[in-house]
Amino acid sequence: MNPAYSTIECRVCHAINPDLTDLRVRKWICSGCQTHHHRDGHSDEKLLVTYLDALESLNGGRRDRSESR
Ligand SMILES: [Zn+2]
Repeated sequence: MNPAYSTIECRVCHAINPDLTDLRVRKWICSGCQTHHHRDGHSDEKLLVTYLDALESLNGGRRDRSESR
């Protein structure tokens, strides 16, 4: 599976929409199942922040534990 396809693949029917290689396209309708999709940058960002947070705590959580000793 190509990870680059994750944002252009329909989550419902897994059809690939080749038009979505243009990152400026925010909304699209799947030609396979007619589902309206939002390419919501916010949710992706939030996910990334959560991920980075988890990584940081794995690395010792220097965010608020740096002075606990
Ligand atoms: Zn679809």
